Amino acid sequence: MRCSVQNCCNDTKRTNKSHGITFHLFPKEPTLRSAWMEALGMPDWTPKERSTICSEHFRNDDFYQTKKGMRKKKSPEKRFAS
Ligand SMILES: [Zn+2]
Repeated sequence: MRCSVQNCCNDTKRTNKSHGITFHLFPKEPTLRSAWMEALGMPDWTPKERSTICSEHFRNDDFYQTKKGMRKKKSPEKRFAS
């Protein structure tokens, strides 16, 4: 599974947690989902069911812990918006 962000080559086959990179599915919640798309500079792009983006596009403080202890993100960094 490749990162959905344009110009990003991170792939789950080649990049993994040992590189400090994690992959994240788009949130199902529509408001959150469009916030991600907007932050990525791809507001007109619709993520597929299994589309993921990698942790490169998030700030460290965007991470939070789920009950299962998995790292997930609230919203991606804005630096890709321009
Ligand atoms: Zn990426």
